[in-house]
Amino acid sequence: MNERTDLVGIAIDGNRCVGMGICEMLAPDAAVIEDDGIAYPTGSEVQSSLAKDMRDNCPSGAISILSD
Ligand code: SF4
Repeated sequence: MNERTDLVGIAIDGNRCVGMGICEMLAPDAAVIEDDGIAYPTGSEVQSSLAKDMRDNCPSGAISILSD
């Protein structure tokens, strides 16, 4: 599989995020905890398998995968 075709964006619902930082730990290029203690997407795309890991491991269900 061509890895470049398997990139997706992620969205984070700031109202749900509890700031545990699992997403940032899994994909520091794609999600960062800001000073307010909430995670924000950087806009960088990640492999879809990694995005699914982020979504599935977020304890508050705040992460969704963007599709075009
Ligand atoms: S894993 Fe979920 S709850 Fe934890 S910081 Fe990321 S978006 Fe927020």
